Amino acid sequence: MNEKTKKSEKEWKQQLSPEQYRVTRKKGTERPFTGKYHNCKEDGVYVCVCCGTPLFHSDHKFDSGTGWPSFHSPVHEDNVAVEEDSTLWMVRTEVLCNKCDAHLGHVFPDGPQPTGQRFCINSAALDLDQNQDDVKNKDKSTTEEQ
Ligand code: FE
Repeated sequence: MNEKTKKSEKEWKQQLSPEQYRVTRKKGTERPFTGKYHNCKEDGVYVCVCCGTPLFHSDHKFDSGTGWPSFHSPVHEDNVAVEEDSTLWMVRTEVLCNKCDAHLGHVFPDGPQPTGQRFCINSAALDLDQNQDDVKNKDKSTTEEQ
């Protein structure tokens, strides 16, 4: 992933809802249990709401009870970036889209196996794509096995 997606503040504002803009471009956090994906159990790939980069897969989602969508792994390590975040008098690890630098959420070392990581992500930073190729292929292979 070498080409970054760069847009002006004005362009992001035009493209995104006020909540999506606040979370992704201003490092905001949605209130827990208010986002559209914390309880979502649909199959698909969660892509960046800003630039469409595949970020997380429904297979890696788990119920963390926190009120935010939580995943034990990203779709691809290169698609997310992490950075130390020392705001709010805590040291946390921020998770960003590696393509457009959207703020996604934070990652904590208290997740389930196989990684032990908990990617705690704002619904407002995500868009569930149920038509990605690997999701379709997965459905197909399940049907073929039967
Ligand atoms: Fe992005």
